[in-house]
Amino acid sequence: MSVPQLIYLDNAATTPMLEEVIQEMHVCMREVYGNPSSVHAPGRKARVELEKARRGIARLLQVSPGEIFFTSGGTEAINAILWGCLRDLKRTHFISSPLEHPAVLQTLEAMAAYENATLSLLDVDQLGHTDMQHLEFLLKQHPASVVCLMHANNEIGNLLPVNEVGSLCAGHNALFLSDTVQTMGKFRMNLNQLPFDFAVGSAHKFHGPKGVGFMYVRQGKFFHSFIRGGGQERNMRAGTENLYGIMGMSKALELMYDGLEGDRAHILGLRELLMGELAEKIPGASFNGDVAGSCLHTIVNISLPALDQEMLLPSLDIEGICVSSGSACSSGSSKQSHVLTAIGANPQRASLRVSFSRFSTAREVLRLVQVLKQLLDKNSS
Ligand code: PLP
Repeated sequence: MSVPQLIYLDNAATTPMLEEVIQEMHVCMREVYGNPSSVHAPGRKARVELEKARRGIARLLQVSPGEIFFTSGGTEAINAILWGCLRDLKRTHFISSPLEHPAVLQTLEAMAAYENATLSLLDVDQLGHTDMQHLEFLLKQHPASVVCLMHANNEIGNLLPVNEVGSLCAGHNALFLSDTVQTMGKFRMNLNQLPFDFAVGSAHKFHGPKGVGFMYVRQGKFFHSFIRGGGQERNMRAGTENLYGIMGMSKALELMYDGLEGDRAHILGLRELLMGELAEKIPGASFNGDVAGSCLHTIVNISLPALDQEMLLPSLDIEGICVSSGSACSSGSSKQSHVLTAIGANPQRASLRVSFSRFSTAREVLRLVQVLKQLLDKNSS
């Protein structure tokens, strides 16, 4: 039996590491073993590399190196910021949306359950847009809130009108945290001009290593580490730094910026091909989210008729195609994702998230649609 060549179209879940990143980390593992907090020569060497990585990321994002703090990833960065806003910056009301990642929603729920935080969730429409009038209404009721809305949704790809949100926040003395995990490395982001007080990055989403990320915290909005321990990261994140990961992350972001425009044009071409092929070959296929509107080029969420959601991913996996679905399996039962439920997607239809990277190809897109068609034909015969 021939093994099908792997088709990886699940880059919103994670990305393969770039070869140059692996090489960078390899050299660092061999040569930079000191603890950046030690005063001796190996320690000082590690400190130099750590600060070089910080400056590299800060330069790409056009902020001060003193505003970048390393973490173990996006989840930790979001937790640290939200708890910091509550405990140190003394903000008690949080405004978010039902479409956020669990790193945000579950943290906010814990803060409301165990501390004095209160939470409002914004209305969203069927295309997955957050209601700006509702945001204004809530900000009037709760000035000096923390607004926590993701830059691009990780399941449907919708982009937030960040400047509109930023003006509303500024007008009501609110702080603005945007979960930028999916957009980091996909746009030339000038954080100095964008209206975020806080933003986050996760290296494994942009061809860097897993288990490392960072938080951007605007000058003047600093807080104490929510992990207790040493005074690393200027008391904003305790624990010895993941130096190899951090160096790999800095390299990965630099390489993403080098190829940004080319990647975007390539991926937009694949996106168009996928949508055209689906329209032609799969009658009744549609999309979740605002595919024709403002959305992240790398994510397409397809809604399919007449296919069993539980069988869809395993069937594609047998064909060597890696994608993800809009549904999460819990306790053996398949249930619709909280994002698709919140936008009122039809639970009878199967959903499929396709997410591209610079390595995706037209051949892979054509093969995906061919296999989907075969599955549908089989189902209806
Ligand atoms: N936020 C979004 C939008 C994500 O897509 C993810 C990862 O799936 C996270 C946060 C969590 O990031 P990490 O995997 O680095 O903890």
